[in-house]
Amino acid sequence: MLSRCVVGALLLLCISGPAAIMARPQPKLVVVISIDQFRYDYLTRFEKHFVARGFNLFLKEGANFVCARHGHALNKTAAGHAVIMSGAYANHHGIISNDWYDVEGQSEVYCVGDLTVHTIGAEGEGRSPKNLMATTVGDHLRESNAGQSKVIAVSNKDRAAVLMGGKLANAAYWMIDSAFVTSSYYMADLPEWVKQYNRTNPVLAYFDKSWERLLPEAEYAVQGVDDFHAEETANGMDRAFPHRIRGMRKRLTSSFFRAFDCSPFASEVLVDFARQGIVHEQLGQRGVTDLLCLSFSANDRIGHAFGPNSHEVMDVTLRTDRLLEQFFAFLDEKIGLQNCTIILTSDHGVAPLPELLRAHNPSLEAGRVDESEFARTAEQALEKEFGKLKKARRWISYTDDGMLYLNPSALEEKAIAAATAEHTVDLALEALPAVYASFTHSQLAANRSSDELGTKMLRSFFAERSGNVSVILKPWFIDAPDGATHGQPWNYDAHVPLLWFGAGIKPDTYYEAVSIVDIAPTLAAMLGISRPSGSHGRILSEILRD
Ligand SMILES: [Zn+2]
Repeated sequence: MLSRCVVGALLLLCISGPAAIMARPQPKLVVVISIDQFRYDYLTRFEKHFVARGFNLFLKEGANFVCARHGHALNKTAAGHAVIMSGAYANHHGIISNDWYDVEGQSEVYCVGDLTVHTIGAEGEGRSPKNLMATTVGDHLRESNAGQSKVIAVSNKDRAAVLMGGKLANAAYWMIDSAFVTSSYYMADLPEWVKQYNRTNPVLAYFDKSWERLLPEAEYAVQGVDDFHAEETANGMDRAFPHRIRGMRKRLTSSFFRAFDCSPFASEVLVDFARQGIVHEQLGQRGVTDLLCLSFSANDRIGHAFGPNSHEVMDVTLRTDRLLEQFFAFLDEKIGLQNCTIILTSDHGVAPLPELLRAHNPSLEAGRVDESEFARTAEQALEKEFGKLKKARRWISYTDDGMLYLNPSALEEKAIAAATAEHTVDLALEALPAVYASFTHSQLAANRSSDELGTKMLRSFFAERSGNVSVILKPWFIDAPDGATHGQPWNYDAHVPLLWFGAGIKPDTYYEAVSIVDIAPTLAAMLGISRPSGSHGRILSEILRD
């Protein structure tokens, strides 16, 4: 039996814990920054080149979690961004990947696609958080004070802005070519300040600009050679510095915008737009707590093209550092940094180029897979087991992000249960040399996965949206024809920064393993608002000042 003294102490803790959190002075502005595709080790590898108050604002004056990881299996952009503000995994928030397949409608679903709304400010398909099944910190902040708090999300990518903003955001803005746009989900027309910003055409000023290294070339030796054959050239750029940002054309064409999106200049425009938003929406200057979510997409596009060990990734990291310093100086001048709570993290990391790894040792098991090989293997195994299908009918309807979807007509024709066909595909795929494991829909739906990888896979599983079979690759195997990619459960895809700065935050380096799902409940506790609907993590009480 507990002694009266212990019971008393526990009671006191229960009463004083939340009260102590509630009594904190509320920040005027919360800024949650996601740098798309940013591995934790970029902070240590490039730290000696950081300026005084960019990343160092957190590293020297804030809380730095050295072992913060995403806890789901499919480390993709949409899934990662949905985690940050909901504190939930895809088994609750529903955003299993960037795309999935609607078996009944026989069509691909884009994570933030919504045919009932339309894009405002440019031609584009409708976007909204309709597919996001969880609530976010921003939603509860808005709910907590009759919508007095503003929640605004800004990114180069639609999915990052929409998913971080949540369901009750005042606005999510993203870029289509040279314009910042939004959706009719949020508003009927762009605010005047956004129209005015677009009229200044800031992107066009970068046409034919040269992206050169920020530091002398010798400083980039830690990244190896600049020109490596496995890098990608698809975005209108060559493999080596300097990069002329014009999309390989003399005239301004749409390929310029693809090159621009894959350059650090896209981040300059993004931060410039965010600053305008703070001024015109008076974020943090209205007597209530506002929330700004900001996601940098260029780091991801550059990482995909050149890989994590490239001069380009080092350069965009250093340029992001300088941009952050300027942005934080702006916040200080406008709102006062002591009145801001700033969090920085990422939606996922990235795997190295397998060719670069094999250059260290040609016998190393590392390589690329083509997902069409998964579909081919599955088709052959199913045909061998159950016989040929009627003319032109296929067993597999759709393959993407390691998920294979069975064709219901094929199952009907052969009168076999999905679970039976899944088992056949599972066995065939697990025999492939690049495959570490595969999981069937039936297995995951019955919660039959108890090891660590199975738990991560269950967190990425949403029964109505997930494929019949999901494939996990062996470490150092990637599914990209060139360049680098992410999407696996391994730490290089999952281990990202988690940095906090603010008046109530205890500056220190924290070594205990934490999860990205811990951000939302911690922020909710700091703000004294409800935890988001599926919030899974714990309050990082170690960083909160007494
Ligand atoms: Zn991403």
